[in-house]
Amino acid sequence: MSDLTQAERERILAKAALFSPPVYVLPDGRRDLVGLDKDELAVEMAQIGEKPFRAKQLWHWIYHQGVRDFGLMSTIAKPLQEKLAERFVIGRPEVVTDLLSKDETRKFLFKFRDEQAVETVYIPDRQEDRGAVCLSSQVGCTLSCRFCHTGTQRLSRNLGAAEIVGQFMAARDAYGEWPSPKGETPRLLSTIVLMGMGEPLYNYENVAKAMKIVMDGEGIALSRRRITLSTSGVVPMMDRAGAELGVNLAISLHAVTDELRDELVPLNRKYPIRELIEACRRYPSASNARRITFEYIMLRGINDSEADARELVRLIAGLPAKVNLIPFNPWPGSAYQPSTPEALKAFAAIVMQAGYASPIRTPRGRDILAACGQLKSAMEKGAAA
Ligand code: SAH
Ligand code: SF4
Repeated sequence: MSDLTQAERERILAKAALFSPPVYVLPDGRRDLVGLDKDELAVEMAQIGEKPFRAKQLWHWIYHQGVRDFGLMSTIAKPLQEKLAERFVIGRPEVVTDLLSKDETRKFLFKFRDEQAVETVYIPDRQEDRGAVCLSSQVGCTLSCRFCHTGTQRLSRNLGAAEIVGQFMAARDAYGEWPSPKGETPRLLSTIVLMGMGEPLYNYENVAKAMKIVMDGEGIALSRRRITLSTSGVVPMMDRAGAELGVNLAISLHAVTDELRDELVPLNRKYPIRELIEACRRYPSASNARRITFEYIMLRGINDSEADARELVRLIAGLPAKVNLIPFNPWPGSAYQPSTPEALKAFAAIVMQAGYASPIRTPRGRDILAACGQLKSAMEKGAAA
């Protein structure tokens, strides 16, 4: 398209740059090693005249031990430690806000070097000594689901792999959850859910790269069974995620008719319910009985009738599935009300009778604005310091 004017070219380039994560080179020229895959790390080492096994050593220190200071890498001799420190850093997002709820849910607002910020939430398991870290995949979201606060924020940009892994690593820092020199393994931060801000399947390359780093057996080593990716239903990318990552899948369903889902989850106009459920049936974990989670926000008088529950059961028939019923968390200006406890119970009973686990997710961290996207908006309004 050589007949594009200069102005048009600049506009297109500016738009592409808007949604792309920046490459991190510090003002002093040092580069961040976090977020590089093993091959890229080996290339960095080759460029400074070091052998490939150095990449392996670094990988271990960065992702297994969680060490950020080259001077603490005891398998690397002092001169090389210094050489590395002159050229590289092992970065983390900056903690802007760190809020602990009465129920132990902990919410971080993390800022990156270009001042963009996202939320990361740690949700401890009530019964056991473990919990889930909820990671964001984008700054904002393009999809504008009607009930979602993140949907009211314009998409600023995708997160890079470094920023996605970085949220998990920074959360581990906060809990001192890196293996001790004696080799104890972390327990509290035991699972990852990609359910924070953004649509992970609209930033697939970076999300996939980050998850491959997290799953690598010589580093953080979380198994794919401990990772759940939540999508509003980007059907073509579900097949790819299934084949390449094989993590657990959660579907933000929220409605059982196209008419209503078109309104609540506008992406449904592109990928309607029938296509979405077919993609779930094709998803690899569905064939080996790892259950797919269907998320369903209970909105009073909108999607919470007993007829809706029966239709839901019909839709997912034959799929190994569980249904998470999520009480709507209202935010200032939201158009909906949470369902009544009676409606919730009746809905759950129908789903349960059909043989599906249907836990009602008690709202967590209400006192710390834990509904997705709320903390960031509060920060922008200057309400949270
Ligand atoms: N974009 C992806 C992942 C992030 S949103 C997706 O839509 O699946 C993840 C979940 O946040 C949604 O499924 C929804 O269940 C939840 N959520 C968003 N707004 C909410 C609100 N106001 N109250 C309760 N849950 C909400
Ligand atoms: Fe985006 Fe998910 Fe919120 Fe929808 S629910 S606007 S896809 S973050």
